[in-house]
Amino acid sequence: MASDASANHLSLRTGIGYDAHRLVEGRTLIIGGVHIPYEKGLMGHSDADVLSHAIADALLSAARLGDIGQHFPDTDAAYEGADSLMLLAEAAKKVRAAGFCVVDVDSIIVAQAPKLTPYRDQMRENLARALNVPAEAIGVKATTTEHMGFEGRGEGISAFATCLLTQS
Ligand code: MG
Repeated sequence: MASDASANHLSLRTGIGYDAHRLVEGRTLIIGGVHIPYEKGLMGHSDADVLSHAIADALLSAARLGDIGQHFPDTDAAYEGADSLMLLAEAAKKVRAAGFCVVDVDSIIVAQAPKLTPYRDQMRENLARALNVPAEAIGVKATTTEHMGFEGRGEGISAFATCLLTQS
């Protein structure tokens, strides 16, 4: 009987990533490497770029390399205030070193405010540069939650990401 494992002959891997950070005063809001004018920013050890973190986790997971916390621990002073696009580029390098190519990435940012659509293409370009793929390979969209949950109350912003890798 054919096993579902025969799908492995395609040498494809998918990954999923999720991240959330608290919105606080006195921080710059950085999502997908874009500095977004807003009254609050995301709190974190690094620049707290929630989208870059979710994508990095999706990539590392698809390559079965663990997660972002393991590779870039928030107890490490080296990552204090770190540019998360650089962490993402570093994660992609590890994924390539493990024998994979990044085929496609899709993502959703969940935020009640500010409006993120005007920054979407700049985010896609930044992320594509970090991953060394064309911008067409990166999907970014944003949604509100109609004021429900922590994102809806403006307490934080979250992001989901998926990716597709192929064995190189
Ligand atoms: Mg994070």
